Amino acid sequence: MNALGRHILVEFYDCSPELMNDVMHIENSMVAAAETAGATVINSTFHHFSPYGVSGVVVIQESHLAIHTWPEYGYAAVDLFTCGDSVDPWVSYTYLKEAFQSGHGSSMELRRGQLSLLKRNDFNLETLRDATAKTIEADGSITRDVWFTERDENIALSLKHTGNQLYKKDSEYQRVEIYETLAYGNMLTLDGMVMCTQKDEYVYHEMITHVPMFSNRSAKRALVIGGGDGGTVRELLRHEQLEEVTLVEIDELVIEACKLHLPETAVAFDNPRLNLLVADGIKYIKECADEHYDLIIVDSADPVGPGEGLFTAEFYKGVYRCLTKDGVMITQSESPRFNSAVFVEIYDTYKKIFGQEKVHCYLAAIPTYPTGTWSFSYSAKGNANPLHFDKEAAAAFSQKEGLKYYNEAVHTAAFALPNFVKELLNTKPENVTDEYSAEPTN
Ligand code: SAM
Repeated sequence: MNALGRHILVEFYDCSPELMNDVMHIENSMVAAAETAGATVINSTFHHFSPYGVSGVVVIQESHLAIHTWPEYGYAAVDLFTCGDSVDPWVSYTYLKEAFQSGHGSSMELRRGQLSLLKRNDFNLETLRDATAKTIEADGSITRDVWFTERDENIALSLKHTGNQLYKKDSEYQRVEIYETLAYGNMLTLDGMVMCTQKDEYVYHEMITHVPMFSNRSAKRALVIGGGDGGTVRELLRHEQLEEVTLVEIDELVIEACKLHLPETAVAFDNPRLNLLVADGIKYIKECADEHYDLIIVDSADPVGPGEGLFTAEFYKGVYRCLTKDGVMITQSESPRFNSAVFVEIYDTYKKIFGQEKVHCYLAAIPTYPTGTWSFSYSAKGNANPLHFDKEAAAAFSQKEGLKYYNEAVHTAAFALPNFVKELLNTKPENVTDEYSAEPTN
């Protein structure tokens, strides 16, 4: 060959948008395309962007294969660069065209490093050769550097994972996926948004349950709307005095995925005191009897998709009606730091329904949620007050149950709010600004 390398610039058109957004499929195809062409794969790095799009590179002994996809156009820009004669990049081209179900492709081959234009420098190879070992794992598998990214407008969270997609199904409501992350264990995402991970789910689930349960010791009937991962009912069912716990989750695939891959969170689904319903929580509240529940926990995802209706005044008024005279509503109320406008809007709505003095906000640190600062609301229909609780009982319970986050001091401290949060809680929605918000508030 009269050049050091062959570089094929490829345009794949009319590809399946599905496949163009499937980081696993793309990574596996790129690695296979290299190996089929006879290349030796060193390592691969792939990034799945939210809401869509994948970029990645496979480093081979004979150079690299790279890709960037635009699922919204069914398009992929691919680079096939090989040096030496042992690898035929056109074999990779043919392999990928099929793998991406591309309607048609166009390509241009460039000879890189025309020998006639190069002057060889003779040098002592030993001084140049560094001992960096090839990043091949002991079992011969290549080092994979695959990242999941939840990207919002201004901020993003990326988590490295093994590249083995444990679960991926589309329900009529959303895409349900389980990733095997290296830092946080198995992770449930819905439509690309992190819901819970094995290594930090306890923060959310202990704080959304034990705070109301210790300030409302007479509670007998509890309802959870959402919460299909099972963590909230797991914590509620630790409280023996609860006679009935009802979980209303709209998507049975969430329950299935968590039973399979988040067993510690889904552990209570077979508990005899649990009434597990696969139904729409909005409809359930509409049809629920007045004053039936002592505690209603809205364990919803973000105010998008099937969960949007769980953030409306109409829904909360329904919850208020279904609560007993001394009942309490707890919700995950997003983050004052993430999107202040949503946070302010939520609390303004609660106060209009429950009353200015009856609505309390408490915080917890959840590493895999946007900004890491998350909030919960405590709205009392009667005179329940979150800070009037039996501290000794809470301390003993935390000890006996081996809780990892909740204890009597954390219970109290969670309501000690920083000034910027107090300011937001006294801000009218029409006056909210970007001052404390990571995301645009307009
Ligand atoms: N901790 C998570 C968070 O803060 O993002 C939420 C956990 S949980 C997985 C949220 C659940 O609410 C999801 O399983 C989703 O399917 C469910 N959900 C969404 N809309 C619903 C509705 N209208 N009725 C019942 N469940 C709903």
